[in-house]
Amino acid sequence: MLTKLKQNVSRLFGNGTKNPRRLERREIPREQHNVSRSMISDPAKKVLHRLNKAGFEAYLVGGGVRDILLGGKPKDFDVATNATPEEVHDLFRNSRLIGRRFRIVHVLFGREVIEVTTFRGNAQDSDDNGDDHRKTNEHGLLLRDNVYGNQEEDALRRDFTINALYYCIRDFTVIDFAGGIEDLNNRQLRLIGDPETRYREDPVRMLRAIRFAAKLDFTIEAGTEAPITELASLLNHIPPARLFDEVLKLFSAGHGESTYQLLTRYNLLEPLFPQTVRAIEDGHSDELIRQALRNTDARIRQGKSVTPYFLFAAMLWPALQQEWRRRQDQGEPVQPALHQAAAKVIGRQIQATSIPKRFSGPMKEIWEMQMRLPRRQGKRALTTMEHPRFRAAYDFLLVRETAGEIEPGLGQWWTEFQAADERGRERMLSELSSGGPKPRRRRRRGGNRNRSS
Ligand code: ATP
Ligand code: MG
Repeated sequence: MLTKLKQNVSRLFGNGTKNPRRLERREIPREQHNVSRSMISDPAKKVLHRLNKAGFEAYLVGGGVRDILLGGKPKDFDVATNATPEEVHDLFRNSRLIGRRFRIVHVLFGREVIEVTTFRGNAQDSDDNGDDHRKTNEHGLLLRDNVYGNQEEDALRRDFTINALYYCIRDFTVIDFAGGIEDLNNRQLRLIGDPETRYREDPVRMLRAIRFAAKLDFTIEAGTEAPITELASLLNHIPPARLFDEVLKLFSAGHGESTYQLLTRYNLLEPLFPQTVRAIEDGHSDELIRQALRNTDARIRQGKSVTPYFLFAAMLWPALQQEWRRRQDQGEPVQPALHQAAAKVIGRQIQATSIPKRFSGPMKEIWEMQMRLPRRQGKRALTTMEHPRFRAAYDFLLVRETAGEIEPGLGQWWTEFQAADERGRERMLSELSSGGPKPRRRRRRGGNRNRSS
């Protein structure tokens, strides 16, 4: 048993690692921490109590504990238990077994989902667990991790020390195996174990480091930070669908702008948006991206929603501009050039992060509407306003103006037009044709039909 533990420790901490930490179970009693039951959602408490009642160990873990300890409000609650996924599933009628690479149970309470994971252990500890349950490929990437273990082992296979804190609802203690409390106090993100090994097992941990650093305003501890730039390209081995999910998490937590800066600094934007990085290197500005993220952050602060297609429309805009220009330079007329450029950019992007069709369609419409917004004469303005993507396209236009990409004016016109009554609108349109505030683009005469997209 002791040798097993020693092997375990040396696997996790490497032999030459610079920042070895003593692994010691520490229990923080109720009066020394601020996690109270009132801050835990009823569904999460129900899951903990029912598992305990059935004779299993069960703890709140991860973001739920971390965010409460930091005085924040958790986004969701995760539970760790020694019950197997099947046992959990049997206990809750309202549950689903999900995942293959990593089997977990979702217990559903209306819109709230409690994620229940069984304590993970290490395959290397025990021969009879075999390759079937825990599998890595030649890059060290963890393909499957379904070897079960005890709570301590579970703690050590988690990513950051601050994510490996457990709350026990039976005696209200917080349990710390990896020095997470100390790191919380120092506002530091530290990977558990040897950073390079842990990133190779799952390169998404690099993105998680950035996400938590931006969200919590934490620094990344030196040893945890050091390998990132070098290992960033390992993200190319991650399935595009998982990276799509991670991109959404990265940019919808209300700290998009700082997240973007960190991603750029650590070479992590490249595997997520390779075309964007290339366009910027070729001299295209990323001011629109920054401005869009600033807007998104403000929206989230106001409790508004952010749509993935708006985000992706902004993130890919420099690449679209580049591709669009290239085609026009080759003699393609402006509209077909845009269509082709959009198809090309989307086609390449989905090799990095997937973009479900329900988002890529609207994203393209936002882009195409940028050509339609300047043309307002006759019935066009009214027709344009009825387009299901008008609102997003108008927001996008405002971002382009704020980013200094186009002359201001058109956005203001649309703002006023939307607010105006029928007579006001008529007046605005007649001012347009009598040479009032002019649209930027030369107007075609006679062609009153809308372009079909
Ligand atoms: P939030 O939910 O606020 O984004 P979180 O820390 O709860 O943050 P989740 O993705 O919900 O993040 O994961 C729950 C917990 O599972 C984490 O806190 C961490 O302990 C563990 N975990 C998640 N992803 C990984 C990973 N890639 N490698 C190791 N452990 C992970
Ligand atoms: Mg969570």
